Amino acid sequence: MAAEKLDAFLVSSAANVRYLSGFTGSNGLLLVLSAGGAILFTDPRYRIQASLEADCRVRVGTGPLLGHVLPVLRKKKSRRVAFERSRMTFEMYQSLKEGLPLKSSAEPVAGWIELQRMIKSDAEIALIRHSVLVNSRAFERAVSGVRVGKSEKDLAAELDYQMRRLGAEGAAFETIVATGARTALPHAQPTAAVFGANSLILVDMGAMCEGYASDMTRMLFLGRPGSRVKRAYAAVLEAQLAGIAAVKAGVEAQVVDRAARRVLRRHGLERAFVHSTGHGLGLEIHEPPRLGKRDRTMLVPGMAITIEPGVYLEGFGGIRIEDTVVVTHNGCEVLTPTPKTLRIL
Ligand code: ZN
Ligand code: ZN
Repeated sequence: MAAEKLDAFLVSSAANVRYLSGFTGSNGLLLVLSAGGAILFTDPRYRIQASLEADCRVRVGTGPLLGHVLPVLRKKKSRRVAFERSRMTFEMYQSLKEGLPLKSSAEPVAGWIELQRMIKSDAEIALIRHSVLVNSRAFERAVSGVRVGKSEKDLAAELDYQMRRLGAEGAAFETIVATGARTALPHAQPTAAVFGANSLILVDMGAMCEGYASDMTRMLFLGRPGSRVKRAYAAVLEAQLAGIAAVKAGVEAQVVDRAARRVLRRHGLERAFVHSTGHGLGLEIHEPPRLGKRDRTMLVPGMAITIEPGVYLEGFGGIRIEDTVVVTHNGCEVLTPTPKTLRIL
């Protein structure tokens, strides 16, 4: 902030507010002052919670929170006020601009806190590790009940229920369960479609535990898989292992993506791999870095990322295998304990 000659930084993303202040409520703005200190603004519903959680000054007010921030900025004579340009609504931006004194300016910044959040502390890695274990346990419990005649929605509900039973706040994202040709939709929403005899099932799930996300994709098969499924599965598994093997501190994110993509190209499946190889995760399910084709972010020990190549063949189905891993000096630690063989039920 000093280098950019900023007087104040208005943090509006809930995850960033939590990261910086400890406050977990859904309505909060954090004003970080260059002169030192920070003020958390929230509404009366969170008065007690904020006083327990936040490690900075708290101001409680009704109505739009910005209405309480602006008088502070005017009083402190803040000239240059930074805001999170990809995290603020246009409405709030307008109110900020109109509410600042004439000679003051609203300065857009992006990714500042996200950059810090990319590298996890030991305490954060412990929380992600716990989230991963809860997620895998919930998967085992729910999968034991998968039968012909159950629906995608039945399994998704069971997965979510088991996560909560095991201590999660809930799912880190809408649980994906797809069967048959619907597995070719990378972000399929569970429907009433039922599992038939000889059906491929894709499960992509993550738990949110003490604020930290996990993420895992596994494939199930009810009955006996045919050779096409087996071949595609073997290719994706090979690509996933190649991606994991490429993870190492000092390596660019794109190198990991290339390692996975190269394997699928060799199997003639490169064009069926329609997304990037992985993403960071933590307080949010999708965080930097992105492990994509042209992502040059250098991997650093303590980054928590997913490795999740997949292939999607319209009319046939899709295969994805995903683990949560932590970057180390010499490689990475795969946190996800769930076996990666195609689970035949
Ligand atoms: Zn996932
Ligand atoms: Zn993912």
